[in-house]
Amino acid sequence: MALPAPKPFEIHNSAGRGEMLFLCDHASSAIPAELAQLGLPADELNTHIARDIGAAELARWLAGEFDCMAILGLWSRLVVDLNRGEDDPTIVAKLSDRRIIPGNASLDAGGVRARIENYHTPYHRCIAAAIDAALERGTVPVLVSIHSFTPLWRGQRRPWHFGVLWDRDGRLAQPLLAELRKIKDVVAGDNEPYSGSLENDCLYRHGTMRGIPHVLIEVRQDLIIEEQDRTRWWRLLAHALRGALQAMGPPTILLKRGISGGNTMDEKTRTELEAAAFRRLVAHLRKRTDVQNIDMMNLAGFCRNCLGDWYREAAAEKGITLEKDQAREIVYGMPPAEWKKRYQKEASAEQQAEFAKSSQAKTHS
Ligand SMILES: [Zn+2]
Repeated sequence: MALPAPKPFEIHNSAGRGEMLFLCDHASSAIPAELAQLGLPADELNTHIARDIGAAELARWLAGEFDCMAILGLWSRLVVDLNRGEDDPTIVAKLSDRRIIPGNASLDAGGVRARIENYHTPYHRCIAAAIDAALERGTVPVLVSIHSFTPLWRGQRRPWHFGVLWDRDGRLAQPLLAELRKIKDVVAGDNEPYSGSLENDCLYRHGTMRGIPHVLIEVRQDLIIEEQDRTRWWRLLAHALRGALQAMGPPTILLKRGISGGNTMDEKTRTELEAAAFRRLVAHLRKRTDVQNIDMMNLAGFCRNCLGDWYREAAAEKGITLEKDQAREIVYGMPPAEWKKRYQKEASAEQQAEFAKSSQAKTHS
């Protein structure tokens, strides 16, 4: 019987208390023993095709510097690319920088699926769990993903020292660009050398889709390879990041993903539409008094009380104090005790057992 694969990620500084969560998808060039180096000679695995050179050291240092946690991929991006969605045809690269990867070239769909299950899914689950844990502590985390790029690409010299990649949510990216550009002689690329808008990539999944502030930082590899001068660049970046966080202000959840096909909705309209959908949800729940809170909890992990609590927490962020029952009354349309008297049914033994089981896995506030 095969032993279960080890966790495909490294958690660095897990006790970090800071609001940022550093990610490093392309941290390592290691290949799990069972994949026999993917048929590549050792010297090919030491190049930029297997990892982002210098990125892991920088991510770990930043985590220490800001007292934050970092999650790093444990295996090479040639095993499976942690910065691609499961549906991306390049998630297991058959070719990289014009080199054929023998161990990937003949992999069939089942083989790709196994790679994803063993080495991709657990990494993203770990990130999602770290975000959940921060939200449960009452902190909206800030995702900062660290990558590096080669100074030369197809014969062209790349002029940027740093690249700031982002998609729809520029809350952190824009001030970071501004801060980097304040530093004398530093060239910072806006969505260079790559574009930050790849659907289902790491930050799309954990940042854009969850409304969490995020940025992807690319650092040119020649700046951070040599131990004697890399700390200068590390410090420059930390300095700019500090300024950018301050300029951004307290992190909040903001859903910026637009509608497919493009839309030109302004922030005010978006907020109004979100509020309209909330009001309709509340109206629906008020009408459907037959739906019991315990059934909602068992099925979906939240209920009317949670909705009221989220309202109260959102109010608190704006400095408005609401009592628990005041906020819940907004959802119920009457004092919660009254709703309970009128509509709550005795929970069956089966419902209670299911609730006990599910509330061990979920938190119900
Ligand atoms: Zn990378």
